[in-house]
Amino acid sequence: MKNRIKNCYIHIPFCNKICSYCDFCKLYYDEKLVNKYLDELEKEISNIYQGEELETIYIGGGTPSALNNKQLERLFKVIEVFNKSNNIEFTIESNFENITKDKLLIYKKYGINRLSFGLESINKSNLSLLNRNITKNKVEDTINMCRELGFTNINIDLMYALPTEDIKILNEDLSYLFSLDVEHISTYSLIIEDHTMLKINGVINIPEDLDSEMYELICKEMKNHNYDHYEISNFSKTGYYSKHNLCYWNNEHYYGFGLGSSSYIDNKRITNTRSINRYLEGNYVLESIELSEIEMIEYEIMLNLRKSEGILLKDFKDKYQKDLLDIVDISELINNNLLIVEDNRVRIPEDKWYISNEIIVRMLEGCNYE
Ligand code: SF4
Repeated sequence: MKNRIKNCYIHIPFCNKICSYCDFCKLYYDEKLVNKYLDELEKEISNIYQGEELETIYIGGGTPSALNNKQLERLFKVIEVFNKSNNIEFTIESNFENITKDKLLIYKKYGINRLSFGLESINKSNLSLLNRNITKNKVEDTINMCRELGFTNINIDLMYALPTEDIKILNEDLSYLFSLDVEHISTYSLIIEDHTMLKINGVINIPEDLDSEMYELICKEMKNHNYDHYEISNFSKTGYYSKHNLCYWNNEHYYGFGLGSSSYIDNKRITNTRSINRYLEGNYVLESIELSEIEMIEYEIMLNLRKSEGILLKDFKDKYQKDLLDIVDISELINNNLLIVEDNRVRIPEDKWYISNEIIVRMLEGCNYE
């Protein structure tokens, strides 16, 4: 099955300081290293990109806004090689700690039309635990500046379930977020990963019932403030769904360029190396796995069920020439109110999203591909 690629992710792995929970692919910012990295990124793109018209480009990190103005200009010159659709969604992640008006002007000049900021929390104890340093003044000045410069699509990331947090603190974080009136909010429950400072310091997760209570509160408050809950962890005002992230949940193909990035090209899941030395030598790929049709179908189910609209049965049939409901018997999941079939789609009801992983596993276990 050959699929046209419409989406592209670019990883900028540099940060000025390291957050205590972070297990992303990142390095400390170093001016010379960044310059070499941008040269190599240009080579990687020219080796792999086939000229397709792109509908989304997402520059993530790391912290892309850690780059200095000259490096940002260089990055955007590299990206000019892409053939962009007229209504492209063009996102860059930024950090409130190092964003400036000059950087926002560079974004504007090169066509960025969606900004994504990692706030995580505005509570001092939470920020101290996360090793982040953000003030309300800096956040509000930045959002005002973005609006004055004409940015109309802004995402903010919120983290919850921190051991320094209770329901009252989460409520305060939510109220603060709503006061900023941004178009999109992504939420993350803190996961304490191996090799992070939190893990090394022996920090442990909050009890699961509190985590679930926090998730419920977030869902309820988002609804009260007119944010659509369109994916398990993502909320947006009407018309502001993240097109780029939807490409992942729709199981579409996409390019990924840069250290540690992932691609899905010609039915292969490709993972780039996390070694900066190997990357700078031009050895970009760590692993390339060609998916069988069964694996493609499993991804299709797992990813699409994260969305409020679920799996569209017609799209599934068009893609795989099979009826989903012939492959899997979901009657028990339906009887237990864990899945709903209506309007030619299968979806998980919103009040069961907290246990979506269990539901997806049960559905996959029930698949019979013969
Ligand atoms: S800014 Fe992002 S990538 Fe960098 S250390 Fe913090 S969480 Fe990790």
